[in-house]
Amino acid sequence: MAVREILKYPHPTLKKRSDAVRKIDEEVKKLIRDMKETMYEAGGVGLAACQVGVCRRVIVLDVSPMDPQHNFFALINPEVLSEEGEIDHEEGCLSVPDCLEKVKRKEKVCVKGLSPEGMEIEIKGDGILAIALQHEIDHINGILILDRVSRLKREIYRNKLKKEKRKEEKS
Ligand SMILES: [Zn+2]
Repeated sequence: MAVREILKYPHPTLKKRSDAVRKIDEEVKKLIRDMKETMYEAGGVGLAACQVGVCRRVIVLDVSPMDPQHNFFALINPEVLSEEGEIDHEEGCLSVPDCLEKVKRKEKVCVKGLSPEGMEIEIKGDGILAIALQHEIDHINGILILDRVSRLKREIYRNKLKKEKRKEEKS
């Protein structure tokens, strides 16, 4: 297993729509193992393959990483089957550092996909799990939390990045 580098906004790969996985081969399995390690190492609750530079429809999640039982799972080619309700929740993203924004999400979702063993699985979630599923599925469609907030908030974040970059260049 290896920890991979997490791409940061505005890396162009984060804007791309990821391709479906046609065959779960050793490469995909290794990708999932690496994504798992990378997510835990970064202290995140979810990660999409494009965040480590691989534009394939693979996500990993563990919304209770402190729980010794570990609720880790990986989903290949995830698709939302049904959704209901609405919720506003503050979200962060490993690819958008120092940004916490309220994002509108569905309160409950049912998502289907394939396990790394190729079994079709369905995950029903509400609360944090529902939000994390929607966040990661957004990633594989090239959507970031910054695309879900107001233009003004997006501008503020961009300006902050520019300022930081200038500071780095000076020092
Ligand atoms: Zn994210």
